[in-house]
Amino acid sequence: MSSWRCDSLRASSSEPLPVVIIGNGPSGICLSYLLSGHTPYVKPGAIHPNPLLQKKLAEAPGVSILDQDLEYLSEGLEGRSQSPVALLFDALLRPDTDFGGNMNSVLSWRQQKERAIPHLVLGRNLPGGAWHSIEGSMVTLSQGQWMGLPDLQVKDWMRKKCRGLRNSRATAGDVAHYYRDYVSKKGLSHNFVSRAVVTAVEWKSEHGSSGTQAPSPLFQVSGYLTHQDQSQQPFSLWARNVVLATGTYDTPARLGIPGETLPFVHHELSALEAALRTGTVSPFSDPVLIVGAGLTAADAVLFARHYNIPVIHAFRRSVHDPGLVFNQLPKMLYPEYHKVHQMMRDQSISSPSPYAGYHSLPEHRPLLFKEDRQAVFQDPQGSQQLFGVSMVLVLIGSHPNLSYLPGAGTDLVLDPEQPLSPKRNPIDVDPFTHESTHQEGLYALGPLAGDNFVRFVQGGALAAASSLQRKETRKPP
Ligand SMILES: Cc1cc2nc3c(=O)[nH]c(=O)nc-3n(C[C@H](O)[C@H](O)[C@H](O)COP(=O)(O)OP(=O)(O)OC[C@H]3O[C@@H](n4cnc5c(N)ncnc54)[C@H](O)[C@@H]3O)c2cc1C
Repeated sequence: MSSWRCDSLRASSSEPLPVVIIGNGPSGICLSYLLSGHTPYVKPGAIHPNPLLQKKLAEAPGVSILDQDLEYLSEGLEGRSQSPVALLFDALLRPDTDFGGNMNSVLSWRQQKERAIPHLVLGRNLPGGAWHSIEGSMVTLSQGQWMGLPDLQVKDWMRKKCRGLRNSRATAGDVAHYYRDYVSKKGLSHNFVSRAVVTAVEWKSEHGSSGTQAPSPLFQVSGYLTHQDQSQQPFSLWARNVVLATGTYDTPARLGIPGETLPFVHHELSALEAALRTGTVSPFSDPVLIVGAGLTAADAVLFARHYNIPVIHAFRRSVHDPGLVFNQLPKMLYPEYHKVHQMMRDQSISSPSPYAGYHSLPEHRPLLFKEDRQAVFQDPQGSQQLFGVSMVLVLIGSHPNLSYLPGAGTDLVLDPEQPLSPKRNPIDVDPFTHESTHQEGLYALGPLAGDNFVRFVQGGALAAASSLQRKETRKPP
């Protein structure tokens, strides 16, 4: 760790940092890139295929996108995100990708050191966020090139690493590696502190030295660093702005039934890999019980079948439920997930299973896990069913965890009566700055602000960087 970072993390550092970013996934990395002075301009002579956007871009030649009116530029853009700046940045980076094209970005990047804003990015794991927790062999749902960050195409990085995309998708392991490399290749490493967990963010308002300016907020960010020998060191630092980019994958959802804390019941796919390594599960063991009908549960089924481990797959919904994620994925692009769906379906109409070692239990509700590794279910007819298992994987989604904020951040969401949810009730931010509408100086990015795909989280970073640079240039000398 550089001495600057050590100083910044030492208890009661005197001078507040302009920006602290909490979370080192794609959102935090992209914002760090922009705050390091990397500045996007439209390439001279580039023509955007969207005529309206092209007309607007041509009105301000030579002006950085960060200095333009993001609301004006993004007006009228449509796509698979609710966030206008996400659509704008995506359209500039991948101009015709939704039409199946492969046109290069219309942006060129210049590093302008005078625009850089000192900042720190704190993260529990290595740079790359959730991608270090996803099973490495899993293939992305999105096209591999959509996982890329500005000015380093995934396909170019893969070529250099002598790796290839699979059916135009990447493995989670490659994506995690790409993000780690991105941070070092773009010279951002000195801003990143890994294995730093934030446990509290508190704020107060501070009057300027002249006493005439409006009070500006000052944030205290506290937590602990875990060293290689596993010892922990507390830290506390001050910041004028704090960016929440902690994603949504740290707290797995629970069934809330008796026996869920027993040692053979797990809530992460990585537990299956570990059990395979230690021999707890094998082709000859009792089946692994996988609970859930989302993509992570499907990944677990695929993983277990790859190693011939017997599986019982239980889920609440009917196999024909249109809300099942498999019913929303094109067959051609996602053959492996359609295979799992087919197994779930075929099994429900024919018994015994046509797929050796796989047994599906649609519309089954788990009631209890017993110490002797028995799982009790209620079937659709209301009867109880008992199954002996080697281990249980409950893979039914995850929740964001903002326990480090006052009141766990409940006041910051769109509807404070409801829990924070990336899809239904994200943090309420100004769409063109990503600053909280409730607390000045507090920003939110990524799933916390309602953007669930890497392709779109980058727009939030652009909006926040533009707002933060404007604040810095307004600051009195
Ligand atoms: C199984 C799976 C498959 C996915 N597939 C795709 C896909 O194909 N395409 C796609 O676009 N998206 C996909 N996603 C979604 C994608 O992972 C997220 O959109 C993206 O990672 C969000 O980036 P982020 O930087 O906002 O948050 P994250 O990547 O979640 O990073 C946040 C980081 O902050 C850390 N953190 C949390 N709390 C604290 C704290 N208190 N202190 C310090 N650090 C903290 C977390 O540990 C995490 O490392 C997938 C997600 C999962 C789980």
